[in-house]
Amino acid sequence: MRRDVVGFMMLIFCTTLAWPQAKLSVHWEELTAADFRSAIEKSKGTCLLPFGILEKHGAHLPLGTDLLKVRYVVLRAAEQEYAIVFPEYYFGQIFEARHEPGTVAYSTHLQLELLQETTDEMARNGCKKVIIVNGHGGNELLLPFFAQTQLEKPHDYVVYILGLVAPPPGGPPKKTAIDMHAGESETSKMLVARPDLVHMDRAASESGADQARLKLPDTLYTGIWWYARFPNHYSGDGSAATRERGQVEMNDWQGVIVDAIRAVKADQQSLQLQNEFFEKARHPLDTRP
Ligand SMILES: [Zn+2]
Repeated sequence: MRRDVVGFMMLIFCTTLAWPQAKLSVHWEELTAADFRSAIEKSKGTCLLPFGILEKHGAHLPLGTDLLKVRYVVLRAAEQEYAIVFPEYYFGQIFEARHEPGTVAYSTHLQLELLQETTDEMARNGCKKVIIVNGHGGNELLLPFFAQTQLEKPHDYVVYILGLVAPPPGGPPKKTAIDMHAGESETSKMLVARPDLVHMDRAASESGADQARLKLPDTLYTGIWWYARFPNHYSGDGSAATRERGQVEMNDWQGVIVDAIRAVKADQQSLQLQNEFFEKARHPLDTRP
């Protein structure tokens, strides 16, 4: 066989070896434009937006704790039940931590506008089902409000919110009663997601005790409640954390996300009802005899 023909065949062989038919990445930013089209098809237009924040997490966890742990679990869930995962997103509600170093707190209108334009752009690219997976307590009121505002004007896509998930029963018994932020549960999860960023030796250097400085009935809400109770931006005791506890909680969270992806993929009613609603909303006087 001629040398140039052999060389050509070797090149084809090596090319096949070096670039096998790779499986589609779940990371939006890792897909080529052409592969993105296949990914939309494979995911049935289902895309995940893991939503974190940048804020202090006690003295021992990194500022990006909520972003790091929500992305860790969402990426694993998407591997299990295919969906496209949007890149790092941390533009949420965190005014209550503005007194601490490293907090990034965008204005209210920008939070809503950026989120709207992000989901609009996701949908324009084929993500007709957007699941926002929350990783941060301060977003728990923002996100349902955002979802509700989707009825303001017609959309050709549906926004679903998956809020924070309570720790499952079972597993190693919990040692602490107060555990809302950077405490036993969250530190345990970080021992799974990013153990290299957990400084256990600093976990007891600040107090995570409830300072209970407001004397108001539970029926009243005020924005300063968090600062009144946990001014160190620490609630609980991270030194009680274990990797075993973290694994139980992360596995459960992953299962909840997988179930949500499957339910959303199967859901045909939400968009249909939205369309019906938007059509009726154009002429409310005609919708009843
Ligand atoms: Zn957190």
